[in-house]
Amino acid sequence: MTISTFSLPRNIIYGENALDHLSQLTGKKAALVTGGSSMKRLGFLQRAEDLLKQAKFDCIIIDNVEPNPSIETVRRGAKAMLDFQPDWIVAIGGGSALDAAKVMWCFYEHPHLSFEDIIPVGAMPPLRTKARFVAIPSTSGSASEITAFSVITDSRNHIKYPIVAADMVPDIAILDPLIPAKMPPDVTVHTGMDVLTHALEAYVSTAATSFTDPYAVEAIRLVFENLETAYLQPENMTARFNMHNASALAGIAFTNASLGLVHSMAHKIGGEFGITHGLANAIMLPYIIQYNRLSTDKYRQLEKTLRINDLIDVIRDLNRRLNIPSTLKECRETAIEERKFNAVLERMSKNALADPCTLTNPGHPDVEDVRILYQQSY
Ligand code: NDP
Ligand code: MN
Repeated sequence: MTISTFSLPRNIIYGENALDHLSQLTGKKAALVTGGSSMKRLGFLQRAEDLLKQAKFDCIIIDNVEPNPSIETVRRGAKAMLDFQPDWIVAIGGGSALDAAKVMWCFYEHPHLSFEDIIPVGAMPPLRTKARFVAIPSTSGSASEITAFSVITDSRNHIKYPIVAADMVPDIAILDPLIPAKMPPDVTVHTGMDVLTHALEAYVSTAATSFTDPYAVEAIRLVFENLETAYLQPENMTARFNMHNASALAGIAFTNASLGLVHSMAHKIGGEFGITHGLANAIMLPYIIQYNRLSTDKYRQLEKTLRINDLIDVIRDLNRRLNIPSTLKECRETAIEERKFNAVLERMSKNALADPCTLTNPGHPDVEDVRILYQQSY
């Protein structure tokens, strides 16, 4: 029998106006890290700064973290931190802003390290010699506020590198549903289906245990019961609260049990065609469940627990109600031409097979299986 580890996040402050908790922090200097414009436009950045000032902090703002944050952005932020010497780092935004802030923190604590130094699992030296970390997610999706992961892109070759370090789990996660309540409908749907995929892949993962399953099942139940409402009634705070918590619960499951083939395949099609991550997951999920069903009994157990007849039907129906197409070629936002798709199919299939998420997939595909799954999803 293998020996497993199960880690829980440090502190989670959740509920409407949980953001106010920032006024309770004690320290001297805070570096606020955020994305492009949403947190500024919606007033949340200003509020975070005001709350920190109430707590007598001096603040700097490190902004303009782009989607799929780059090594250069991380270096720029670390340099600003080295000049300012914060004792708290407060990241507010989507997964991109949170992920970038985590790695800025690493380089602030250890300025002599190169990006290559921190890529191998277990390579990160201890953090918290200079600062602690608060994560305030503005999407209900990536769960970066909970996880030991960060995804940083090398802009020279467009390769996304997952950085893994237990020390990168934030000290405090603030889950204030008033923030994701401002997500536009498409971001709500795509990030919400990403949550469902995290939870489902963690549940059927070969590394799932009785410690991770309850978090995964609860996240799946919450998505099924709340995502459509969050989409149709953006200001419905019960649905937003449940989706925001579901994202973090799924995060607890997948930071311990890892993911599977849906993520492997979505990462590669995202790299080739720039299709939104959660949308790619949502489209491919039913095809990959069909494939994985042959290798695991857990979908049947889940159907029993949730009292549903057929998981694939439930997901197809949910996708339809969320206006998600059933194939990749029907995506209007990114035209995936058949000629281009066929030209890169073999490479994508090989790369998806080599993605670390494939390691814990319940079915054990070969390149041919992955290629067929891409073709079915196309
Ligand atoms: P992003 O952080 O990339 O944000 C997507 C878009 O949504 C941005 O344009 C952002 O605008 C906007 N936005 C964010 N919040 C709001 C809001 N409340 N209202 C209006 N607009 C908003 O998206 P995700 O959260 O999906 O994160 C994706 C990233 O997370 C990827 O880089 C992925 O690789 C990574 N990831 C990390 C994981 C981890 O464990 N660390 C796990 C899974 C994925 P603006 O920039 O203006 O704020
Ligand atoms: Mn994901």
